[in-house]
Amino acid sequence: MAEKELGYVELEWRCPSCGNRNPGSVKKCAQCGAPLTEEIQFEQAPQEQLITDQEQLAQARAGADIQCAYCGTANPATATKCKQCGADLAEGKARATGRVLGGFRDRPAPPLRCPACGTENPATALTCSKCGAALAQPATPQPAPTVARSKFPAAILLAIVLGICALIGMVTVLSTRTTDLTGEVRDLTWRRAIAIEALTPVTRQAWRDEVPANAAIGQCTRKVHHTQPDPAPGAKEVCGTPYTVDQGSGFGKVVQQCVYEVYADWCDYQTLEWRVVNTAVAQGTDLNPAWPTLNLVKDQRAGNRKEEYRVIFLANDKTYTFTTADSDEFLRFRPGSRWKLKVNTFGAVTGVEPVAGP
Ligand SMILES: [Zn+2]
Ligand SMILES: [Zn+2]
Ligand SMILES: [Zn+2]
Repeated sequence: MAEKELGYVELEWRCPSCGNRNPGSVKKCAQCGAPLTEEIQFEQAPQEQLITDQEQLAQARAGADIQCAYCGTANPATATKCKQCGADLAEGKARATGRVLGGFRDRPAPPLRCPACGTENPATALTCSKCGAALAQPATPQPAPTVARSKFPAAILLAIVLGICALIGMVTVLSTRTTDLTGEVRDLTWRRAIAIEALTPVTRQAWRDEVPANAAIGQCTRKVHHTQPDPAPGAKEVCGTPYTVDQGSGFGKVVQQCVYEVYADWCDYQTLEWRVVNTAVAQGTDLNPAWPTLNLVKDQRAGNRKEEYRVIFLANDKTYTFTTADSDEFLRFRPGSRWKLKVNTFGAVTGVEPVAGP
């Protein structure tokens, strides 16, 4: 983020003794004469206007006021002796700076109604034009929260989550609860498959400078590639809302944070990629599984291999299927041999062990 200066505005301060609003450049209350002390903070005027007067601008840029160490009066940064008591300001303390006061109030503000006589005064007025009473600033409206709250009631969400948890728990319990059966190998099936991949033209998208060298570039559109704090040729400046920062001098600096959007070509391109175009399959019902023979043509290659073996047992006049991807395990199941099966509530075989003894 780069900070961009839009200009300066005069701030104001409220006299704690009499309530009068005073311009930031005036260091003594215009109504009661009380000094602007360190504890009094500058505030934004209800309606702010960028300063064009050169003398005022110089004042605004001069730096933070110095609070006299003896009498507490604020003096301009350029002063060397306190204008109130004459003390040397070398021992004085500079006012704090850099506080963000709020959004730049460049829009016309509603008129201020005098609390004493009810007369409507322009937003820029500090005192009532009719009776001279101090005009209070309207309370600053609170900014709307930026994070949207979910409308979905939390209780319903909780109930759904609990329900899902209960269901998962029930399924887990039922599938791990097993009974032991003795079964005989009835049927065997095996299936082995090899994916056949071919170099296939595909359309992909990338930034122009990231398109592979051998690819053919198609349509391109200009898109924001990245944002950066510094300007660049062709980059678009994007700025946030201007706001006012206390300079400690009775003036505020109006700034906004800006970034530069750097554009680049986002392009379609055609290239060749390995894609599965077919699957060669071999299958059988014996104990001699084999891989299918491949007849690959140009620009084709063998892809992933997959094997699946099923053993169907007969136990208590019912069939149970055991599935594995391990061919060594499959080869143990001679037709007619007997095995101890662990069968869960859903009828799935979760474990197989040879029957002990002869
Ligand atoms: Zn006062
Ligand atoms: Zn002083
Ligand atoms: Zn009035």
